[in-house]
Amino acid sequence: MRPRPFSYRAPTTLKEAVEILSKDEDSKAMAGGQSLLPMMKLRIIGPSTIVSLSKVAELKPHVTVSGETVKIGALTTHDAVNRSPDLKRYAPLLSEAAGHIADQQIRNRGTIGGNISHGDPACNMATALTALDATVHVTGPEGKRTIPIRDFFVDTLVTSLRQGEVVTDVEVPVARPGTKQKFVKISKTATSWPMAMVGVSVELSPERKVERVSIALGVAANTPVRATKAEEYLIGKVLTEEVVKVAGDVATDGLTPPSDLHASSEYRRQLLRVLVRRALSTVGEVS
Ligand SMILES: Cc1cc2nc3c(=O)[nH]c(=O)nc-3n(C[C@H](O)[C@H](O)[C@H](O)COP(=O)(O)OP(=O)(O)OC[C@H]3O[C@@H](n4cnc5c(N)ncnc54)[C@H](O)[C@@H]3O)c2cc1C
Repeated sequence: MRPRPFSYRAPTTLKEAVEILSKDEDSKAMAGGQSLLPMMKLRIIGPSTIVSLSKVAELKPHVTVSGETVKIGALTTHDAVNRSPDLKRYAPLLSEAAGHIADQQIRNRGTIGGNISHGDPACNMATALTALDATVHVTGPEGKRTIPIRDFFVDTLVTSLRQGEVVTDVEVPVARPGTKQKFVKISKTATSWPMAMVGVSVELSPERKVERVSIALGVAANTPVRATKAEEYLIGKVLTEEVVKVAGDVATDGLTPPSDLHASSEYRRQLLRVLVRRALSTVGEVS
């Protein structure tokens, strides 16, 4: 299907982009267009104006390590996130999650800022950034603000971004020594909609006990969710086959994931349980 007619703007400054987006309620920012354009073609949305962010000077893609954190520019593509040596070293969960998005063409166009702004709980970067307690930096008509990732996702396709606000960067802590991270996902094919995904970050002591852990589940609810009870259960424990098994049960206990043509709620819960065990087994080298 063809999208509704729309006008196209390509501002070169962030100020101009924010101005257009905040004055016209019917306008939409476009980064890689990999979610926006399919939604327009399916006529799920029909914005009157598309505001391309690709020429905005302040949004030049980048990965910047400074002290305890890594900042990633909103327009950094999934492919660049996947290949970045700094992210492989300091936030390997992000790099791995980006490598599992769809196919190479989509990874060449899609961006980390677009992935979270789309607000879909089936998005890889949304899940990985939730596991890493990311901070989202935005600029809007009222200036700059930072949003903790736990407050960013509100509902399916709904975020806490206000009219005219543009995501400029996301920031994650540098992985501490002894930290291992893993992203796992199940979908029928590379480009079909994910059935379940899990991101984990685990810091082990020299005695191999869990000192810090975060587990994020994707496609488990209307937004990415943290498995906080499983995280509490794991603290102070060595990752054994039994511990990992219980953690999978605790992480998914009481969950009612969405049901759709790709997977029923019950099947999705079972997949999430298996993925939690798989991710923890990998980081804990449980055979
Ligand atoms: C066939 C197919 C399979 C896919 N499979 C997966 C998958 O398995 N996992 C996965 O994670 N993703 C998947 N995607 C989606 C892909 O990752 C998209 O790249 C991503 O969701 C959106 O990024 P984008 O840069 O293309 O954003 P766009 O499509 O340009 O924008 C998406 C939304 O975000 C808004 N937006 C974009 N950038 C900003 C910004 N900086 N500030 C404020 N708002 C902004 C737009 O207005 C729009 O509402 C798939 C896409 C396709 C077409």
